[in-house]
Order: sequence, then structure tokens, then C-alpha cells
Amino acid sequence: MNFTKQDLSNIHKFDDDMLKAVIEADNTIDKDLFELADEVRREYYDNKVYLRGLIEYTNYCKNDCYYCGIRCSNKNAKRYRITKDEILDVCKTGYDLGYRTFVLQGGEDSYYTDDMMCDIVSSIREMYEDCAITLSLGERSYESYKAFFDVGANRYLLRHETADNNHYSKLHPDRMSLDNRKKCLYNLKEIGYQVGSGFMVGSPYQTSDNLVSDLRFLQDLQPDMIGIGPFIRHQDTPFRDKENGTMELTLRMIAILRLLFPYSLLPSTTALGTINEGGREAGIKAGANVVMPNLTPIKYRGQYELYDDKIYTGEESAEGRKALEKRLEMIGYRVVTDRGDVNKLK
Ligand code: SAH
Repeated sequence: MNFTKQDLSNIHKFDDDMLKAVIEADNTIDKDLFELADEVRREYYDNKVYLRGLIEYTNYCKNDCYYCGIRCSNKNAKRYRITKDEILDVCKTGYDLGYRTFVLQGGEDSYYTDDMMCDIVSSIREMYEDCAITLSLGERSYESYKAFFDVGANRYLLRHETADNNHYSKLHPDRMSLDNRKKCLYNLKEIGYQVGSGFMVGSPYQTSDNLVSDLRFLQDLQPDMIGIGPFIRHQDTPFRDKENGTMELTLRMIAILRLLFPYSLLPSTTALGTINEGGREAGIKAGANVVMPNLTPIKYRGQYELYDDKIYTGEESAEGRKALEKRLEMIGYRVVTDRGDVNKLK
């Protein structure tokens, strides 16, 4: 199927077959698609790129996702946990570097009880009133999410990973369920978080029908943030021999997401920067408007290894802010210090 730019500007009205055709189209549509996505982003967010300081606070995980390098069965992973004081230290570093959102991400680690998380969140909240606190610690109960929210957390990232039950069961052991993950996402919304979801592009066994289901699920959820990145294999997982996702398809999906969710905050992810040198800039040009440099204490930074060769130095690190700013300026974007809340007002 051939699509003109005019056709693509109506993508929000496409049925499943047409969306699938866009996902599968040859690369001649990308120029139009990326231009449209960039126009829509500028309408909602101008040329601003928002920063999030990512603190990967534990790589212990009780889950065993087949794709992930920190799965509990990976005995080669060198495990670490960061103390509250270390977290507060890096928040200070981050604040001084101009970060106004802190993202605490980790494996599902019950060592951090609800009380401990509440203590950490409320301490950050007390010290940095003007900052957003984002959590990304996997599936927890409604009550836990509510407790974190009540002490000051504002946002929560929980990718649904894939919206298709059959595909989900090929990526995860039986004891994990897509229904529970979805339930968590709706609970988070109900509590009042700004919610982020998302999926990997090119994960093993993924079809374009699966990607259409992902888009439809997101349309139902209406998340504020959507994180996607290519699947990248990790040598110590059952998927060690699988093909990586591609930058090309990831960029196309970013552009489609921007057109379907004009108001959304879309990160150009570390995985995209890892799979291709210029991946992060390309993501921004295709419609992304967030970057999440790494603020984890340097001594642990290499250990949050979700996939092989994950980058964490240079402009990928929070300290590389100036260099990042320059590179994005060169392609016409402006890194800003705002909290960067979702713009649903238009
Ligand atoms: N425990 C948290 C954080 C998970 S890690 C949670 O459950 O939300 C953050 C994201 O990294 C995952 O949601 C997954 O989509 C992505 N990820 C994990 N392994 C990956 C891999 N091999 N390649 C690319 N992305 C991966």
C-alpha cells in the first residue's frame, strides 16, 4: 500500500489493517512520517526536550523475564542495591546539573519494603519540592502504589511489554500475567499518577499484528508517557541468540506514537542509543521529546545490564548534559530544565 503525507496525517482514523500496512511499509514513507511527527510535537511542546535523571537503584529482581539481563536466573549478574543516602546524594548532583525529574527504576526487589520506599520518596520530596518523582519498580499492590503517591511520587513507568496474551507468554514465565500488569496500569491511573507504558520493538516472536495491538491497548489506556526501544539480546538469557530489534522500526513506531498521542511524553531511549550511535538524536527527530540520562552512582552504572553493551558514559550520563545539549541544539532542539509535565491542555 502507498501512503501520501496527506493520508498519513489521518493515521488516527486508520483501521487495524491500515495501521499494519504503515508498520510494514517500505522506508520511503519515513520522511513524511517523521516530518509529520515533528510538526505535531512542535505544536504541543515546541522544540523542547525534557530531561529525566535515571537512578537505577537495584538490579535484584524476583522476576525471570526471558529477555532481561537482570532476571533472577542470571547467576552472572553482579547484584547491587543503593542506600537511601546514596540516592539522596545523586539527587543533589542531578539537581545541580539541572535535572527536575528523578526516576527511580529497579528490578522487583522486595528488600525495598513499602515503608522504605515511602521514606526514600518523602525525603526526596522534602528536599526538592519543585521536582517530579517518577517510580518504575514493577508490579505492586494498589495500596503500595497509593502509599508512594501519598508521600509525593507523581509519575510511574510500567511498560506493558506486549498487549497480546500469547506473545506475553513467550516472553515471560507462566507465573507472570499480562492481566495483572494491565491491572497495575489502570490502578496507577486511578490513583492519579501520570502513567507511562510501552513495549520493546522487535522482541522475539513479535508480529506487526502484535504492534497494532500494542497501539490499541495504549489508546485504551491513554498514558501520559510512552517508552519504547529496540529489543537487544543479552548473552546470559534464553534469548541470547535472538535477533535484535532495529533502529528503523523503532523510529517508525516513535513517529506513529507521536501522531496517535500528540500530547505524550516520548523518550528517545538508551536502547535506541545503544543499537545505533546516532540513535538518540534520530529518535528526537522522529518525534520523541524526552531523554533520560543516567544518574546512577558511577560505581554501579555498568551493572544494571538489561542487555549487552548498554551505554552509560558520555552523553548518556547525567554529567554529559552539556555535550548532549550541544548535540541536540545542532539538530534544532532545546534541552530545558522544566519538570516537563504532560501537556493535555491543547
Ligand atoms: N522492574 C521494572 C523495570 C524493568 S527494566 C518494571 O518491571 O517495570 C525497564 C525496561 O527495560 C523493561 O520494561 C523492558 O521493556 C526493557 N528491557 C528489559 N530487557 C531488555 C532487553 N533485553 N532489550 C531491550 N529492552 C529491555
